[in-house]
Amino acid sequence: MGCIFCDILNKKIPAKIIYEDESAVAFEDINPQAPVHALVIPRKHISTTLDLKEGDNNLIGHLFQIANKIARDKNVAERGFRLVMNCNPESGQTVFHIHLHILGGRHMHWPPG
Ligand code: 5GP
Ligand code: ZN
Repeated sequence: MGCIFCDILNKKIPAKIIYEDESAVAFEDINPQAPVHALVIPRKHISTTLDLKEGDNNLIGHLFQIANKIARDKNVAERGFRLVMNCNPESGQTVFHIHLHILGGRHMHWPPG
């Protein structure tokens, strides 16, 4: 089975990439749910958060550091933004390569839908 986010990492399919380094990539969501909606993903293919190993702890922290940078760059850091990582179908996960959603630029609802 192919992975659409591995294809984005490997530049096999296009995306609006806004950040990349040796271990992670961030790009604009194709179907934005807020004025700011980006995804941060590890280069390593990990299907769900349930597949995380102890050795991935630094990598996950790194994804959050990137999310903070993007939130600041897009001027939503101080007003507020939401970070979401869905896990498995009932949460709404549709792409099985973990990704941290950064949502901002509008008031977020709670509880989420
Ligand atoms: P999930 O529902 O798995 O938490 O989030 C998957 C996200 O990936 C969705 O917000 C969806 O719009 C986005 N997405 C799915 N396919 C593509 C794609 O090919 N390119 C980009 N940029 N985003 C995608
Ligand atoms: Zn993948």
